Amino acid sequence: MSDMITLALSKGRIFEETLPLLAAAGIEVLEDPEKSRKLILPTNRADVQVVLVRATDVPTYVGHGGADLGVAGKDVLIEHGGEGLYQPLDLNIARCRMSVAVREGFDYEAAVRQGSRIRVATKYTTIARQHFADKGVHVDLIKLYGSMELAPLTGLADAIVDLVSTGKTLKANHLVEVEPFMEISSRLVVNQAALKLKRDRLRPLIDAFAAAIPKD
Ligand code: ATP
Ligand code: MG
Repeated sequence: MSDMITLALSKGRIFEETLPLLAAAGIEVLEDPEKSRKLILPTNRADVQVVLVRATDVPTYVGHGGADLGVAGKDVLIEHGGEGLYQPLDLNIARCRMSVAVREGFDYEAAVRQGSRIRVATKYTTIARQHFADKGVHVDLIKLYGSMELAPLTGLADAIVDLVSTGKTLKANHLVEVEPFMEISSRLVVNQAALKLKRDRLRPLIDAFAAAIPKD
């Protein structure tokens, strides 16, 4: 294991919302991922670097030691399973909710009441399966990798399970949020072996993050 501390982040909201936490730990990222094509970003600390990976790949990098720590959404962590990961902090960033949404005019309550089999398209099959099992609703899950909003409009599915924050995307596609069921935020994840081997340097970083978590 190298002497470098490697933090895995995804571009976009997680990167942006992690910057203030890094600043609180005295760490400044020296390159802007929106302007640079680099996937490894140096920081003001010679022993700390940031690697840019897909949001869904953060737990994989950290779990296998490709990064010592990372920031990942609760959604991504549930779908991944969290193996090999220590999850010390809910960072209260990148907040949204997991919801069921349907096409305008589709009577979700009636479908549930009647015990119909509902076709649900989603990227989040583990979360969706658990949710409908808890409700005792029979569903046929259709795995998608993006553009879930399209599924009810094309007849691929009756409903979707997706992340919602403002609801603007749903509205623009004539979908209605019928059942928000899980609050989502991002967590700090740490490789368990790295925490033992590099604890002298990781512990202060985790503590600085903890002290800087945004309040509601
Ligand atoms: P990719 O863009 O690589 O396909 P993604 O769309 O899941 O992956 P992001 O959009 O960057 O990646 O989302 C990263 C994380 O931010 C998600 O896992 C989720 O926890 C959270 N998130 C997603 N959508 C929203 C949103 N609309 N508002 C706030 N947080 C969100
Ligand atoms: Mg995205």
